[in-house]
Amino acid sequence: MEKFAPYAVTETVSRGRRHAEPPPRARGEFQRDRDRIIHSTAFRRLEYKTQVFINHEGDLFRTRLTHSLEVAQLSRSIARALGLNEDLVETVALAHDLGHTPFGHAGQDALNACMKAFGGFEHNLQSLRIVDTLEERYAAFDGLNLMFETREGILKHCSPANARALGELGRRFIEGMRPSLEAQIVNLADEMAYSNHDVDDGLRSELLSLEQLDTVTVFAQCRREVVARWPELAGRRLVHETIRCMVDALAFDLITRTRANIAQAGVETLDDVRAAPTLAEYSGEMSLRLRELKAFLFDNLYHHKRVLSMTGKAQRIIAELFAAYMAEPDRLPPQHRVRVKRSGAESGKARAVADYIAGMTDRFAMKEHRRLYGKSEVNALRGSELS
Ligand code: MG
Repeated sequence: MEKFAPYAVTETVSRGRRHAEPPPRARGEFQRDRDRIIHSTAFRRLEYKTQVFINHEGDLFRTRLTHSLEVAQLSRSIARALGLNEDLVETVALAHDLGHTPFGHAGQDALNACMKAFGGFEHNLQSLRIVDTLEERYAAFDGLNLMFETREGILKHCSPANARALGELGRRFIEGMRPSLEAQIVNLADEMAYSNHDVDDGLRSELLSLEQLDTVTVFAQCRREVVARWPELAGRRLVHETIRCMVDALAFDLITRTRANIAQAGVETLDDVRAAPTLAEYSGEMSLRLRELKAFLFDNLYHHKRVLSMTGKAQRIIAELFAAYMAEPDRLPPQHRVRVKRSGAESGKARAVADYIAGMTDRFAMKEHRRLYGKSEVNALRGSELS
C-alpha cells in the first residue's frame, strides 16, 4: 500500500459506493474507478470534442481528451508531492470534462439556453450525471457506481436547488464545507493546464503573438529567463521552454503554499480538510499573475473574432438540433426515447434531448445537423476553419 499523508482520501475513510460491490481482487477501489472512467463511452468521445478549437481545425490542437490527460498528469505530480491519493486525482481529472457538449463553451451556453425552462444545462453537473446514471455498462446498476470521493471531486460547483436534490453529495454546498484536498488539487490543475496549453495553441494558430503575450507578466518573466539562458533560441522551442517555465513556476508555488496552509491550519484528517477553509491555493502574488494570464486569454483568444465566428455557428447547430428532437422525439435513438417515455413530462423529454446532444462529438453533431437540416449550416461552419 502506498503511504499517504494522514489527511489524504483512503479506502478506509471513504464513504464508499452507492451500490455495494465485492472489493476488487488485484487493484485499489480508486484504481477501479479510474479504469471505469477510461472504459466508458463518454471518455472515448472526448477525443472528438472541442477544447477551444473545433476538432477539425487541426491535428495539433488540444481536444478535451488531451486536455484531460494533461490535467491528470499535473494533478498526479502535485498529489504525490503533497502525499495525497494519486489514483483519486487521476480519476477525477480524467472524468472532470465528461459532461462537455460538442463545440466547447459555445455548445454549453447554447444548450443551457435551450434548457432554460427545464432546469438549465451545466457541464459539470452533466459529468456527474454521466457517471451516476447515463453510462449503461453494468447489469446491477445504472452509471458507473463510483466511490463517493470520486463523485465529490467531479461535482465542482452546484446551485442550492441542485445541491438539495443530490442529497449526501450536495450537502457540502449547503453547509459550506470543502471537498477533499484531492478534489481541490484537480480543480486548480485544470485551470493550470488550460491557461498554459491555450497559450501554446493560441500561438500555434497565430491568433496570438509573442509580442502580445509579452504584456502578460508571468509569460514575459519566463521568456526573459529562457532568453537569458539560451540567447539564440527562437520559434517553437522558445515557446515550449517559456510554457514549461510557467507550468513549473505555478506548480511549485501551488505545492509550497498548500503545504504551508495545511501546516498552519493544523489539519490532520480528511474531516479537518472538509471543515477548514480552502487549503489548495497559490500565493497571493501567483494568483494575481494567473488571473492576469486568464484575463488576457479571455480577451485575446476566447473572444478573438475568428473563434467567435465559429462560436455563433456552433450555437446555431445546437439550438436547431434541440428544436428538431423536441418537435420529433422519435428521431432520438432507442435508449433516449425510452427516457422520454418513462418521464412522460415535457421536462423529461427536454432532459433526454439534452443528454443526447451533450453526448455528441463535434463531427457527429455536424453530421446529424446536416441530416436534419441539409448542408448549408455545416458548410458555413467549415468555412470558418482555421488552417
Ligand atoms: Mg477542464
